[in-house]
Amino acid sequence: MKTIENISRMSTFVKMMKKEGKSIGLVPTMGYLHEGHLSLVKAAKKHTDVVVMSIFINPLQFAPHEDLEKYPRDLKHDEEMARTAGVDVVFYPSLKDMYPEGYATYVTVEKLTDNLCGESRTGHFRGVTTVVIKLFNIVKPDVAYFGQKDMQQALTVKKMASDLNMGIEVKMMPVVREKDGLAMSSRNMYLNDAERKDAAVLHQSLKNAETLIKNGERDAGKVMKAVEEMIRSKQSARIEYVKLVDARELKDVKMITGEIALSVAVFFGKTRLIDNTTITVR
Ligand code: AMP
Repeated sequence: MKTIENISRMSTFVKMMKKEGKSIGLVPTMGYLHEGHLSLVKAAKKHTDVVVMSIFINPLQFAPHEDLEKYPRDLKHDEEMARTAGVDVVFYPSLKDMYPEGYATYVTVEKLTDNLCGESRTGHFRGVTTVVIKLFNIVKPDVAYFGQKDMQQALTVKKMASDLNMGIEVKMMPVVREKDGLAMSSRNMYLNDAERKDAAVLHQSLKNAETLIKNGERDAGKVMKAVEEMIRSKQSARIEYVKLVDARELKDVKMITGEIALSVAVFFGKTRLIDNTTITVR
């Protein structure tokens, strides 16, 4: 496995691979890897010849009050995990290389980014799409892999790739969970023991909602209320949002029909976690 820390060297490598007719899979991450990230690598290895994993903590997608400074970092450990998972290249560009002085270009996807996390995290998705289009332009992947844990992000990137005719297939892969159902996340390491226990309620509340819907409940308000009540029963939990939206445009729904997504953002202590599930009702 190679680690490439420089954009021009990455471009040279990509040119070489293209010349050899190899397809490239890209897995963009912010590092501090876990099985969720590795599931994307596994998918990439199945469908593409060369797997590039980027590790870059993108300041553009953090608001000033968010956790950019304390976001966990461990490159050595990440390299070990990436190597074991079969990554071919870890792309680890520097901040200066990605955003040199005078940097002034940004990409925004409208509408899809209005609701859910876009409502509270102003500028977050603009930061995401900007860094992702840069990674796409540098790595020139055939396929890029994103996790459903960050569903709004995956859909937004897919929309950008399609709207801008990038010729890149964007795949969204299922959420990988801990034994008790908590979605794996680099941010889980911030949780203390009590918060960690409480956080399992996210998945439980989503499962409970799925059961309600399966049993015939079609009133979005009632399902959201049930989810909120379960989450509120945990002492360390503070809800940012619980929303039922249509799974394509992410607009709020009142009645549950077709393909919908139930999406939650909840603080446990100071740590903000998100989760979601998609449900199809015919
Ligand atoms: P991050 O390093 O948190 O920015 O995540 C990098 C990529 O991994 C994103 O596409 C995430 O959606 C994906 N990812 C993070 N956690 C999980 C998970 N538990 N299951 C599946 N994919 C995940």
